[in-house]
Amino acid sequence: MKYLPEFSLTDLHSAQAHYLIAWGTLTLTVVVCLAAVIQCNKLWLHRWLSLGWLSDALFSADPHQKKLGLRYLVGMVNCSAGVIALNYGASQGVIDAEACRHLTWTSLTVMAAFFVVLRTGWNKKLADPSMSELKTASAIGILAWGYLIGGPGAPVALMLLFIILMFGMFTTTSKQLIRASVFAGLAFSAVFVATAADSGANTIVAKMQMVYGGVLLIMLASVCLLVHEMARMRARLTQRKVELTAALAQIKELAIRDELTGLFNRRHMGNVLNAEAQRTDRNHGRFCLCLIDVDHFKAINDEWGHGVGDDVLRALANVVAAGLRETDVVARWGGEEFLVLFTDTDCEDAAVVIERIRVMLSNTVMTSASPELRVTFSAGLTTYQVDESIVATIERADQALYQAKATGRNRTERHTLFDGDYLA
Ligand code: GH3
Ligand code: MG
Ligand code: MG
Repeated sequence: MKYLPEFSLTDLHSAQAHYLIAWGTLTLTVVVCLAAVIQCNKLWLHRWLSLGWLSDALFSADPHQKKLGLRYLVGMVNCSAGVIALNYGASQGVIDAEACRHLTWTSLTVMAAFFVVLRTGWNKKLADPSMSELKTASAIGILAWGYLIGGPGAPVALMLLFIILMFGMFTTTSKQLIRASVFAGLAFSAVFVATAADSGANTIVAKMQMVYGGVLLIMLASVCLLVHEMARMRARLTQRKVELTAALAQIKELAIRDELTGLFNRRHMGNVLNAEAQRTDRNHGRFCLCLIDVDHFKAINDEWGHGVGDDVLRALANVVAAGLRETDVVARWGGEEFLVLFTDTDCEDAAVVIERIRVMLSNTVMTSASPELRVTFSAGLTTYQVDESIVATIERADQALYQAKATGRNRTERHTLFDGDYLA
């Protein structure tokens, strides 16, 4: 039927303009598909593709919806390219204009329906908000239809099918893509048979359907192989990522922990103290520090051996950690020295906690090698002064500790900054 269609996207312009539009759209499709496939690694490309305020208005400010919108756009450009190509054929009188009009309206309706679902956010209520499978199936159905009515331009549908399946590799799961390939195989086989049956005496057309059938078979087999390979790569990458994340977490943990006691190490405590000092300066808050040192620890090592010495350090670390509030922080500061940060606490209250720990320690079995062994510790306490260096605070706590040692050990001394007195 060689009459002009009642509705055609192309009959508004000259034949050359149709040609330009059709090729322009196809080129745009390929560019957009390629850009999407390289996953927009380049920042400018990403910005360009997300189209800023325009994509906000078109889809949603929600980045996930926007991403789905971009995929929808790629599919829509693809579908439009096919529709324009068909309308061009109809305008040239080589395609049945009536059938072309039906297909055009159907595909516009399908595209509009997907847009409405995306724009209203209804897709979020679906099991698969990306609607990938539904979109792929609709596109395959429309392409098969396009092939059926496409006349000499029918093979373009096979090319577009290939683009859709390739794109699907990055946007759908392997199972979905295999299902889409099977559906494409069935739909196109049906249209090949229908075209061959319709060709009547024109045997070359019937034979070409067999050729196209072979091409389709090779194409679908290649897609399935690639899908399989991609699935293996994805599984390997996922496994690597899990292992790397676990290794990184372990490295991070090791970097801040003391190996023997499991408490924070000196370096991490330094960072914690600096952060706490900054917070205190900003908020005019308060905190105090307590330096704890085991009494006569060298004698324990000498008498019981280093193994028992290590047991003692571990047991002491457990007792101190158990005796503190969750907001307080304790670290192993040196050999048998521990530093405690009492957040938002003054020296009086901290001293009470230290005494409680002292009592707990006196009731604790330090080592199974010698259950009767008990240890004591001396402690030096001081309060952080706003805007001073943390080194100065620690130095004062050390002086107080020295005083505790000098005045008989197994006691806590407090350094008061202004008069230099030591209070028990
Ligand atoms: P004071 O009451 O004056 O603190 O006497 P002290 O013996 O506790 O102090 P000193 O500084 O003389 O001895 C500390 C000892 O701690 C010396 C060192 O060998 C030992 N030490 C340091 N780190 C470890 C460790 O990780 N394990 C063991 N078992 N001993 C350690
Ligand atoms: Mg010491
Ligand atoms: Mg000591």
